[in-house]
Amino acid sequence: MIEGRIERLHFDGVIDMHFDLPMDLYEKRDRKNILETEFLAEFQAGGISIIAAAIYIENRYLPQNALRVALDQIARLYAETAASERFAICKNFREIQEAHESGRIGFLITMEGVEPLGTDLHQLRVFYELGVRSIGLTHARTNAAGHGGIFAASGSPPQGLTTFGRELLVECERLGIIIDLAHINPAGFEEILSSTTKAPIVSHTNVRRYYDIERNISDEQIKMIGDRRGVIGINSILVSPRQEESTLDRYVDHIEHIVNLIGIDTVGIGFDFFQFIYRQWPESRQKELAAKFATPHFVPDLMNHSHTHNLTRKLIERGFNDADIEKILRGNWLRLFKETLNG
Ligand SMILES: [Zn+2]
Repeated sequence: MIEGRIERLHFDGVIDMHFDLPMDLYEKRDRKNILETEFLAEFQAGGISIIAAAIYIENRYLPQNALRVALDQIARLYAETAASERFAICKNFREIQEAHESGRIGFLITMEGVEPLGTDLHQLRVFYELGVRSIGLTHARTNAAGHGGIFAASGSPPQGLTTFGRELLVECERLGIIIDLAHINPAGFEEILSSTTKAPIVSHTNVRRYYDIERNISDEQIKMIGDRRGVIGINSILVSPRQEESTLDRYVDHIEHIVNLIGIDTVGIGFDFFQFIYRQWPESRQKELAAKFATPHFVPDLMNHSHTHNLTRKLIERGFNDADIEKILRGNWLRLFKETLNG
């Protein structure tokens, strides 16, 4: 009976606001049909309807190849989408609805760190035309726009944005690009909220109450997002600093903490599933990641999109009603898309 209830809850889709798909497609650029052969089954098993496909540039491509690799990542996403009946790239709310109505999984292209733009504001327009509809100014590192929050309780640069970062905000709001506050340092977070007017998002994060690092968000920051009717997506790989506490229950604790602070209308999913990339790396690279950021603690029953039913089952067990679960799975993101991506 619970399985039937889960099926009904998933019927209108599930939205994941952060997935490092383009970098994987780029690394496999000499192969075809990666989406259908390596991802489709898991997306379908999870009832996934919309995925934010995040352009991210690894350090080894910086600075001189950032633009080239970003364009190639988008090129791969377009080529793979064009080669399949099952996917679509969405640039506005209407296309998001149409993708779902025609039984396709929709991609919303996002950018995690503006390194591809260099310091050229004009290039934002190019990425907008290609479909980028959400931008986080930084990843964990410092770039031309600002500074990322570090993977420790304090210690990131006290400065907010650069002049370029502030100019980017104005242009994003003018074009209709959602501002994503995931990763930005605390000073940048405050500055972005005080200098923009539209609803912001934090696409993939966790609450500092359960994992106290600057990369995650404090209660005060959660309330600031709530005041602005933004949406916060809960990350699956920074649920706890300890592997033994990286459980589905702890993932739901993060959701519940936000609901208790600001209500059910501001929380969604930003799984940031990363194990599929991590497992392809040699041990030396895994160690490098742990030294630079943190060791990712994957939640055993929330490791990829096919596990999404486990989350829904857990939400039911924890007493969430159907209307609330639908808001978490998709409704809150859809409300925000309707308000911000109406162009
Ligand atoms: Zn990230």
